[in-house]
Amino acid sequence: MPYSSASIPRDMLIHPQMTLRTRVLVLDVPDFLMRYCVIEMRSPLQIWEAEIRAALFTVAPEKAEAFAELVAKRNMTLDFVDKGGLHFRAYDDHPEIEVGWPALEALWSATYAYLALYQARHRSQVSGEMQFHIGSQELSVGLNLYGWSLNRLKGKMESAWPNQLPLPSRPPKTDFEKLVLRNFLDAAAWILQHECGHQILQRPRPLGRESIDLEWEADRHATAWTLDGLHDGILINERLVGICIATGFLEAHRDNASSDSHPAPFERMTMALNYRSVPPDALPYAFALSALQMNWHLREYNTWIQVENQTFRELLAQFGACLSGRPATAWLLVRPEDAVKADLALSAPLESEITRGIAYDLWELRGSPLWASEVDWFAAENYYRDLRFDAVVRLLREKALNQA
Ligand SMILES: [Zn+2]
Repeated sequence: MPYSSASIPRDMLIHPQMTLRTRVLVLDVPDFLMRYCVIEMRSPLQIWEAEIRAALFTVAPEKAEAFAELVAKRNMTLDFVDKGGLHFRAYDDHPEIEVGWPALEALWSATYAYLALYQARHRSQVSGEMQFHIGSQELSVGLNLYGWSLNRLKGKMESAWPNQLPLPSRPPKTDFEKLVLRNFLDAAAWILQHECGHQILQRPRPLGRESIDLEWEADRHATAWTLDGLHDGILINERLVGICIATGFLEAHRDNASSDSHPAPFERMTMALNYRSVPPDALPYAFALSALQMNWHLREYNTWIQVENQTFRELLAQFGACLSGRPATAWLLVRPEDAVKADLALSAPLESEITRGIAYDLWELRGSPLWASEVDWFAAENYYRDLRFDAVVRLLREKALNQA
């Protein structure tokens, strides 16, 4: 596995405060099934091959030397092939790791889509919006890109990269694409370290141990390699985001199903997230949740509404329950038309007559002081909004498709 010291742009950090809490999430149906003209070419990611190889080292630069020793001792090689499907493989009988370009392309597309969704939600939250709609340019492009790449990976569609969709370019064209590249490399590094875990810890392949157990061990190796020894919260978040992208991408491909050989991707994601104790409202939990919602949306075209305020860790756990078909109080699966109505009701202007009536009662409750105050008016508006929100949620609960 040749070691390249190619440098990776490290200037685009996702800010640790960049968490989100959007009460109502309304996702629109993507149009990635539209017809595209295609351009014939080899994998456009090949321009980053050196960096993908280097990512195994640069994902944890503090352990690069130790890793180089392991690689040399085991004669490990990393090879890129054109095979389709989710092709990440650690051979049993020789120390080779093999990766398919189509799988890497889909991982790059997943990174693009997850980051676009996260950033759009974050922007919407910063500007104080209660509802969130998919609409930004990068986001709808990301949805189309990711949807297309998943379909192609699953063999539902035979085509080269559509020329209307963004391509990896060298150097990246925008700050956003720089961010995509950096996080893609972190995600690829975790998946490749997982394969290295098989080679380093399980060759020759141990007899009498279940496949699933071996997979967990390889995951633990990748996660420990990426996170052990770190103290900087920003770095921990950043590397966890890479792991969320990797496991989120596996979730999308495997439809969260466990198999005889592999654990369910959602379990793998939460296991890695809980490896270091990051606060329950930290960015990685918010990011993971956002990534899963994007997967679920692409898979099912359905609409999820968050109706309770919880920590992101709790919201993620509850969404995991939804994924396995169990009821969850924080998330409602609703028909798109019900979501649209809820959205209209929640964003309608407040009736000033009603606000005035509430404000008057609040003023009386304060003992009808002589001086007039805007306090009552603001309190009345908030109370009115809360009442309206509760009423809408009650109605949505009755109509929800995922309630017991
Ligand atoms: Zn494995």
